[in-house]
Amino acid sequence: MVVCVEYLMVAAAAQIALALSALSPPATVGVFVDFDHAAPRALIDSMQREVKSLLEPAGVATAWRRLRESQGAEKFDNVLVVRFTGVCGPSPRKVRDELDSAGGEITLASTKVRSGHVLPWTVVRCDSIRQGFAARPASPWGRLLGRILAHEILHRIADTTEHGHRGLFKATHAWDELLEGKLRFAAPDLGRVTRAIRLR
Ligand SMILES: [Zn+2]
Repeated sequence: MVVCVEYLMVAAAAQIALALSALSPPATVGVFVDFDHAAPRALIDSMQREVKSLLEPAGVATAWRRLRESQGAEKFDNVLVVRFTGVCGPSPRKVRDELDSAGGEITLASTKVRSGHVLPWTVVRCDSIRQGFAARPASPWGRLLGRILAHEILHRIADTTEHGHRGLFKATHAWDELLEGKLRFAAPDLGRVTRAIRLR
């Protein structure tokens, strides 16, 4: 049976950013991205910077590749294939109607799970994410995508469907948390990654 680790959005409390010492050398994660619609270069750069800053404290280095250009010849300690559905980034399209129909929880991304193990297949739903920008059109898309993706990468590396109690690895967040301010993984969740790396 295949189920999904879903990243939901509900109201929640503010978070505290924590750090953990990095391992050396870093574990490499190949992130193979595929966009249904082309995303702005600046957005992608910003997303990658955010993922790097979030995962570096756990001793993880990400290598970004375009899925459609990959030859599959490189070796990484771990991999994740990420499909971005919908339009990622600012759009002239009105979004208020989408927001009104969203209800209390929105699934922003999901990663497949089989037999208790997290598989390397993630979907990031940009049309759902856009709902969060209805009231905050000036907020940075790239940073938000980076946070969402780093959350899914942690599921994959730690091979866990569980979530943390604080920080970015919580199961749900308020839009304010994800779009604004500083949000990092809590130390216990970075510890999940470092333990997984030691066991490889
Ligand atoms: Zn999750």
